[in-house]
This record gives sequence, structure tokens and C-alpha cells, in this order.
Amino acid sequence: DNWPNKGSINIQNITARYASTLDPVLNNVSVKIRAGEKIGICGRTGSGKSSLTLTLLRMINIIEGRIVIDGIDISTIPVLTLRRRMSIIPQDPVLFCGTLRFNLDPEQKYVDQDLWNALEIAQLKDYVLDMGEQLDTIVTEGGDNISTGQRQLICLARAFLRKSRILIMDEATASVDLQTDATLQTVIATAFSDKTVLTIAHRMSTILDSDTVLVLSEGRVVEYDTPQNL
Ligand code: ATP
Ligand code: MG
Repeated sequence: DNWPNKGSINIQNITARYASTLDPVLNNVSVKIRAGEKIGICGRTGSGKSSLTLTLLRMINIIEGRIVIDGIDISTIPVLTLRRRMSIIPQDPVLFCGTLRFNLDPEQKYVDQDLWNALEIAQLKDYVLDMGEQLDTIVTEGGDNISTGQRQLICLARAFLRKSRILIMDEATASVDLQTDATLQTVIATAFSDKTVLTIAHRMSTILDSDTVLVLSEGRVVEYDTPQNL
């Protein structure tokens, strides 16, 4: 089937922790997100922003509450299916050791034209055209020959190819320059306009573009409103 085909997310009262010996890092968090909504998540370092996005992929233990995506409780979905159906762009993405082609399309489901189209969407086309081997360029382990911003754009191109209804974007903090940040925002506003996008944002400009801003503090929701009302 094609779940989730809308992209609504209902986070109901979740408390979550990394290990049974550790204190919860999220406490009674409830957030209701409409399909197609753009959410900006902010809060101080350590407030739980990344942890909240990890709950959606079941990468952290939910000890109370539940998350319902398009009407289905995600605890009932096999974890690999869940992770395949959503796209996450982490703070510091690690690329696979292999070609750019493999990184964009690990399951080899697309033709080159699709890959170039995705690269164009992510504003990476000219950059890749300038590389001698183009799609066959080898990306080194950990992606050290490519900047963090470019790695995030490659992940964005992959997410676009997969047509995920839900995109989670953990913006790189200091390592992404203004230009790349602006590019990421433009791509999300255009190529992902009908998708549900959660962006962990570090810049005011990013937050102003979202429909709703979620502010976390010490693992709790302290604000959830339009940027205009904050
Ligand atoms: P930043 O802005 O620095 O990225 P954040 O808001 O994303 O911060 P989280 O990474 O969600 O914050 O961290 C929330 C809490 O969870 C912090 O106290 C952090 O130390 C803890 N934490 C994060 N990752 C782990 C982990 N893998 N194991 C144990 N505790 C963790
Ligand atoms: Mg984080």
C-alpha cells in the first residue's frame, strides 16, 4: 500500500527516553500536524528537537502516548517500513560509500533522467555537471569530500525522488552558510509544497516561512502557534 498518502501527524501525549536507565527527554508532548503543513521546530540546544523527530521513526523509546500518522498508530507499522516511508535529513548526514548515483537511488529504482531532475530540484545539477565522473563520482566514506550543506541537498534530492509525503529536516547549525540555507528553504517551499515538512530551524528566516512554529524547552512544548502570533 501507499501509506502515508496524506501526511497528517498526530503526536498524542508522548513521553520518550533513550534508555530505560535514563530520564525522559520528551515529556507529555502533543502536536497535531495537518497534511501538507510546514512546521518550524525551535528551542535551545538540548531541548529535544532532534529527539522529537526521532520518535516519528521509532528511533527512541516512547514510554507513554502514541503517534498516529494518517490514521495509523506507528507502533503497529514494521520499523523498516516506517523508516522507508518517511525521509529524514539529519543535522550532519552521512553518505554511503559509493557513487553519487547509489547515494541518490540505493535501490536502483530510477533512470538517470529522474536523478538529474532531482539534482536540478535540489540545485545541485551544475555542481554535479562540473564533477568529472558526474553521477558516477565516488563519495568518500562519511561524505568528507562534500560539504555538510551539499550532503543535506543530496539527501533532499533523494527525498524528492522517493516522493515521501513526510519530510523531516534537521538543519545543520553553524556549518551551513546563508546561501545553502536559502537554497534548502526554496527547494522545500517549491518541490515539497504539498508535503508535510518538519524543519528544525536555527534561523529566524526559516521560522517565518513556516505555517506553524513549535517551540520546545526541556522536552516540553512551550509554544505552538503561527509565526505571526509568536
Ligand atoms: P541541538 O539544538 O543541540 O541539536 P536538540 O534540541 O536537538 O539540540 P536533542 O538532541 O533532542 O536536542 O537532545 C535532547 C536531550 O536528549 C539532551 O539532554 C541530550 O543530551 C539527550 N540525548 C540526545 N541524544 C541522545 C542519545 N543518543 N542518548 C542519550 N541521550 C541523548
Ligand atoms: Mg538536534
